[in-house]
Amino acid sequence: MTHRTIPIVPVHNRPAEDKIQVRSISGVFTRWRWAMVWVTQLAYYGLPWLSWNHRQAILFDLQADRFFLFGAVLYPQDLIYLTGLLVLSALLLFFATTLAGRVWCGFVCPQTVYTELFQWIERRMEGDRQARLRLDRSPWTAEKVARRGGKHLAWALLALWTGFTLVGYFTPIRELALAVPYQLGLWESFWIGFYGLATYGNAGFLRESVCLHMCPYGRFQGSLMDQHTLNVAYDHRRGEPRRASTEKDTRNNSDGHCIDCTLCVQVCPTGIDIRHGLQAACIGCGLCIDACNQVMDKIQAPRGLIRMASLVELEGGTSAPGVFLKRFWRPRVLVYGTLLLIAAGAVTTAFLSRDDLRLNVVRDRSVMARTVDRGAVENAYTLLLMNATDRVQSLSVAIDPASGVHLIDPPAIVLQPAQATTLTVTARMSHEMAAMRAGEIIDIHFQVSDPDHGSSQRVRERSTFIVPR
Ligand code: SF4
Ligand code: SF4
Repeated sequence: MTHRTIPIVPVHNRPAEDKIQVRSISGVFTRWRWAMVWVTQLAYYGLPWLSWNHRQAILFDLQADRFFLFGAVLYPQDLIYLTGLLVLSALLLFFATTLAGRVWCGFVCPQTVYTELFQWIERRMEGDRQARLRLDRSPWTAEKVARRGGKHLAWALLALWTGFTLVGYFTPIRELALAVPYQLGLWESFWIGFYGLATYGNAGFLRESVCLHMCPYGRFQGSLMDQHTLNVAYDHRRGEPRRASTEKDTRNNSDGHCIDCTLCVQVCPTGIDIRHGLQAACIGCGLCIDACNQVMDKIQAPRGLIRMASLVELEGGTSAPGVFLKRFWRPRVLVYGTLLLIAAGAVTTAFLSRDDLRLNVVRDRSVMARTVDRGAVENAYTLLLMNATDRVQSLSVAIDPASGVHLIDPPAIVLQPAQATTLTVTARMSHEMAAMRAGEIIDIHFQVSDPDHGSSQRVRERSTFIVPR
């Protein structure tokens, strides 16, 4: 069988204007979804409150151009690691999608996670699906106002807390908390409000519309999958023709196992009917699997009428070991897997071997070179030194003597933890050497060392020294 991409049919069982009222369900996939909500949200809401060496453990201090990541101190020059991380994340997403469909969408995507949280609040305030449908149709009574108002108030508080937490990654969160609400700065107020409003709108109202109409990943997911990719799928061979009754003994019944109860549709967060095949709107959450398994238990039929299965398994009705292994032994899995390992190795190695000290050298452009003192030549430079550690660094600066250039009054610098400083230095070439090399542009290397920590702390930066004619 060739490795063609799998067909994804458009959504065709629900008018776009229908409001979806999702029915709650329990089961393995529901538990996994909630586990991921807990993991991701404990991390998101909790991490900015962690301390490390008497400062916030994770802080992107844009005003000071410094990023703190536990023990690591990063500067804007280190954005290359962020680029590497984004590449790594994209490859991980491709790899996971090729193997198991839209697991990201169904379990970890912020749109899914916040929609789940907002729906949980909705259920607490307005009841489950039937109660909400009744409430939708009922006139505006005091009870309806109280329930709706309570829901929106709880949504707004959660959304504002989400916005506050986001800003807490960029402004020390404890200071931010003390400034709420009257001493907040303009930008902090704007971003808390903006992100809060985005969360409120996306998770409270737009919900599946984001997945259906806005998310670019949902558009090209089909090209990442093939007929060996695991997806949430309805087993037509077992389910059809649908039976009209819910009689329990299925063994003597020639009809399929689907009793057309539509429970799988009622629990679907995007409101689709998985029995029409894999659809662009399916986010792979598996809730329809939980729902259908409950129905199969009730009619005493085997579970798995809707299950995680590849097209090959569904068409051939087999789960033989060869089919299972083939899932991993596919060019796209091997390519994404290899690229993922290479990228993970490269990013990890580069990050762990980064310098503890950064040095930028800029030649003084206003005074190219000046001749002083019986023909000696001087050039001026501005050095930017950045301490990328949580400890004090005592530094000495020099120029590699092999170039015949030396520093006048080599500075001794004490850099506090995570501190950056600029200083101007002057390099000189003796008049004898300047006479021999008149008119040349000479390569020189600045060297900064931290004598307290041995030569491994030395950083070198290339520059040039101009000798006038
Ligand atoms: S939940 Fe199962 S039995 Fe009920 S309609 Fe869906 S596929 Fe058929
Ligand atoms: S069809 Fe099933 S897996 Fe897909 S979004 Fe709906 S409930 Fe989730």
